[in-house]
Amino acid sequence: MQTNTVPTSVRTVTAPPSSLKATHPPAEEAIYAILHSKDLPTLPALASKLLELTACEETTLAEIAHVITQDIALSTKILRVANSAFFVFPQKITSINQAVSVLGTSAVRSLVLSFSFLSIGKQQRHTLFNLEQFWERSLIQATAAKLISEQVPNMDAEEAFTIGLLQNIGKLVLAITMPHAYDKVLEHLQKQPVPPENNSSHDITATERELELRYIGATHTEVGYHVAKIWQLPENLLLPIRYHHCPDDCDETSPAYKQILHIAHLANILSLLFCTGQPERYHKLFRQRARKLLGLTTVRVNMILKTIDKVIDQSAHSFGLKITPVKPVAEILQEANLRLSLLNLSYEEMNRELIKSKLELERLTEELAQKNRMLENLANIDGLTEIHNHRYFQNFLESEINRSIRTKRPLSLLLADIDHFKAFNDTYGHQAGDFLLKEFCRVTKEIIREYDLIARYGGEEFAYVFPETTADEAMLIAEKIRKNTEECIFNDGVNVYQVTISIGVANASFADDGTISKNDLITMADNALYDAKNSGRNCVVLGSTASRKKKRWFAF
Ligand code: GH3
Ligand code: MG
Ligand code: MG
Repeated sequence: MQTNTVPTSVRTVTAPPSSLKATHPPAEEAIYAILHSKDLPTLPALASKLLELTACEETTLAEIAHVITQDIALSTKILRVANSAFFVFPQKITSINQAVSVLGTSAVRSLVLSFSFLSIGKQQRHTLFNLEQFWERSLIQATAAKLISEQVPNMDAEEAFTIGLLQNIGKLVLAITMPHAYDKVLEHLQKQPVPPENNSSHDITATERELELRYIGATHTEVGYHVAKIWQLPENLLLPIRYHHCPDDCDETSPAYKQILHIAHLANILSLLFCTGQPERYHKLFRQRARKLLGLTTVRVNMILKTIDKVIDQSAHSFGLKITPVKPVAEILQEANLRLSLLNLSYEEMNRELIKSKLELERLTEELAQKNRMLENLANIDGLTEIHNHRYFQNFLESEINRSIRTKRPLSLLLADIDHFKAFNDTYGHQAGDFLLKEFCRVTKEIIREYDLIARYGGEEFAYVFPETTADEAMLIAEKIRKNTEECIFNDGVNVYQVTISIGVANASFADDGTISKNDLITMADNALYDAKNSGRNCVVLGSTASRKKKRWFAF
């Protein structure tokens, strides 16, 4: 960066400039601090002098040329651009004098300003701000502005180029004067999720503005505007800096200024097509706004979009800027489409995976439930006879008693015991005994109803629970079981066996008799069984509700 003498009037400002009076206090303070920062970049002296000269109507072309030739490096650069594809002149321009007269004062001034801006910010500190990217984007913006202006009558293309080049100068100023605060803006901007494309009112520009206000107190457009004002840039450059995001906010009604603002606005949108991950969004927006703001036809818009990548490269070459080559718009859009379809594809794939996982999860859950049911069953099933065990019987009886209280229906319990089973085992062996126990269960299970229960009470003793069954009904079933057992011929393939059973029956209406308990019912059945055994076995005895005291019965 060239070190220049800063106009004393600028450096000695002790109060916020009057032009800031209307600004919101924090913005006013922020801008005041920026304008008084020792790091505030200054416009090269030659550019300032040139601006001064071109502002004066009496200035001659020779005077302008004279000022420029003072800076040999700048003169060389201007001649290079003048002879480049940037200006398509048939004859070779060999001197600044010739350049000024052929290109015109305005074009040369634009070139001087452009080169002056490009020299700013070279002593950059280590921050997140990427100067190369900044100039790359500015160059895209400048080229876009130039191309758009070529489609609009009475527009100075070089001036449009300069407007595009420096409309974001506020960002550079922020990065230089407030590096830490601006780093926060950039850091959050990188982290912030990109606003969705369907949110027309909020895009990356709006996010950026919010972050600048939060961390700096003023936006880059405000900052750029005030700095450019201090640099004494002409009004046609100031307004685009201030209003390129929101041309409608500008009170300026002159059609020429409006047009400049609209070009700057569109150039900004077009640069977003290249520089954000949402080319579709800004491509669509550019087309819409170009038609609305400048009345550009589709053919004209297509012309801009078709040539911009090449012109950006040419501009970069002409201004001696090394930039990453930009891709043609069509290619950028195609890639975005592809990314989107890939995204959709992976989304679909993801969906498929999710559905697959969900089904797998459902299958595993069902499998687990089945296994749990199996385990639960195993815990409730007697291993030998495969009927429910004592534990299950106790729970079942408990819940059936509760139900009988609710339904006010009687409940019956049977306890059956195989007669002389010890003798059976002794005679036929334990294995035959096991076979008999199993077969007995299988056969008797077929007699009872589905919602009745047969459980192994213990040893060769079995419990039957008959919900909603009266004593008479229970006696009938008990008799049926007894008779069926007596008549059954158990055949294990080796021998045939016959056994008898004794059954004790208990019945209760729990809803009517609140004093009777589960254990009472079991004791009643047990006592009845005792009585049945004592009555000679192979019979059924109904227990009485009065005898709840457990009797002891023994085999003989
Ligand atoms: P009672 O008519 O008085 O009931 O005479 P009992 O012999 O049937 O009665 P006791 O209680 O004296 O004998 C029960 C027999 O049942 C003894 C036992 O070996 C047999 N037992 C109990 N559980 C099993 C079993 O799982 N398998 C076999 N094979 N026998 C069993
Ligand atoms: Mg027995
Ligand atoms: Mg027994």
